[in-house]
Amino acid sequence: MTTQALQDNALFQTGYLVDGVWKSLATTFDVLNPATGEVIAKVAKAGKKETEEAIAAASRAFPAWRAKTAKERSTILYRWYELIIENKSWLGRLMTTEQGKPLKEAEGEVEYAASFIQWFAEQAKRANGEIIPPIKPGSRILATREPVGVVAAITPWNFPMAMLTRKLGPALAAGCTGVIKPANNTPLSAFALLTLAKKAGVPDGVLNAVAGNTAEISDAIMASHDVRKISFTGSTAVGKTLVRNAAETMKKVSMELGGNAPYIVFEDADIDAAVQGAIANKFRNAGQVCVSVNRFYIHESVYEQFTQKLSAAVSALKVGNGLDEGVVVGPLIEPAAVEKVREHVDDAVAKGAKVLTGGKPHSLGGNFWLPTVLGDCSDGMKLAQEETFGPVAACFRFTSEEEVVTRANATPFGLAAYFYTQNLQRVFRVSQALESGMIGINECAVSTELGPFGGVKESGLGREGSVLGLEEFLEVKTLHLGGL
Ligand code: NAD
Repeated sequence: MTTQALQDNALFQTGYLVDGVWKSLATTFDVLNPATGEVIAKVAKAGKKETEEAIAAASRAFPAWRAKTAKERSTILYRWYELIIENKSWLGRLMTTEQGKPLKEAEGEVEYAASFIQWFAEQAKRANGEIIPPIKPGSRILATREPVGVVAAITPWNFPMAMLTRKLGPALAAGCTGVIKPANNTPLSAFALLTLAKKAGVPDGVLNAVAGNTAEISDAIMASHDVRKISFTGSTAVGKTLVRNAAETMKKVSMELGGNAPYIVFEDADIDAAVQGAIANKFRNAGQVCVSVNRFYIHESVYEQFTQKLSAAVSALKVGNGLDEGVVVGPLIEPAAVEKVREHVDDAVAKGAKVLTGGKPHSLGGNFWLPTVLGDCSDGMKLAQEETFGPVAACFRFTSEEEVVTRANATPFGLAAYFYTQNLQRVFRVSQALESGMIGINECAVSTELGPFGGVKESGLGREGSVLGLEEFLEVKTLHLGGL
């Protein structure tokens, strides 16, 4: 499918969305294909005025949407889920074209994104309250659940569909309306999903969307008393700013922020499984994943074995345009991302790391980086302290369990952590000791709609997915009844 064929589809929207209508603006910004540099869309550059329009539309739509029965909202959500699945192939191509990840991964993300809509279509019917034993005769206390109101969903470019539906599924299920602000690198994926939401029966004004002038959009959202909640996925630095700004109007906040995941391979691990897990985790989406491993800690007795097997497998990974057959590692999102990877690799090498494979840009040039394994890494290197967000596996040696747990926790972040061992006592001991919201044990994947997703420390506030995801969009109202 050519870019032209993508553009000719009715799901390809480039305006801003208010009250169910896509509006254009004279000022636009470019959305690029990160594999080729080609401009694939000129998108309306929305700012303060358009954001205020969007908030007003969401506020107007709120009373009717919350008044629907949970079952009515559930039916619409379920239809949305079906439409996303029906359009998987086209949506996958769109995502690969604007985000870069290989087509198979993009289609996998479409399914993952749809799973949140399906799950919350079911959960919509379970926003149960409680009846509390009263303190006086002839009285009752009821705690009911109500939607928080208008929500702002601000999402990143690395999972442009799943990060959106992980918020919109529970928000709509709860009866909230919203304003969506997707990342400027990848607004088209979000816009396509919103077009399907309308087709599924989400009423006009319930979901509105703006992209473009991030500072103006953010300021308008934060200044609004009508926006009662911010649900943000992105970097810790921006998350902190939003939490500070939310204090002015005391908005509720959910923050899914950055990580610095450790991956510990103990001496009793199944090394082949640990290598396979390492590849699947680290090189998915070219390493641009919040739960990507940043630090591989390998017990000294299996270090050589693990790093040799890992380097051999990594050097065989096919890099290229995600639309091409057999490609498993696509481009990074933009030149600044390549620069960050270069900076981390150069710093590590200057401080004594050994390049076991890769370590430099791919010969394709542009945003492509060779999948890299670095050995002999140490904790003072930049890549030990900050998210590299690229296809670089940094390997560190360790000697004892106590030492590695201390080093794994020595970061302000706490999103995901992984370890491989066959020792059951250690499974529970280390799981308890790791400061992390999610832990993979002999398992490299921690993302599913069924399990709570979120971090501790500076990796965030709140949980998405699972039964907890709905709670984030509900307020508790307590009714004290007397004279019964
Ligand atoms: P980012 O923080 O730069 O941007 C995220 C979103 O916030 C984008 O829509 C961006 O336009 C917007 N934004 C930027 N500055 C803003 C401001 N001042 N006010 C309001 N909005 C603003 O992050 P990114 O580069 O798009 O995404 C990568 C980061 O996201 C990584 O740190 C990654 O770990 C994190 N992430 C976390 C999760 C999670 O679930 N914890 C999931 C995916 C990505």
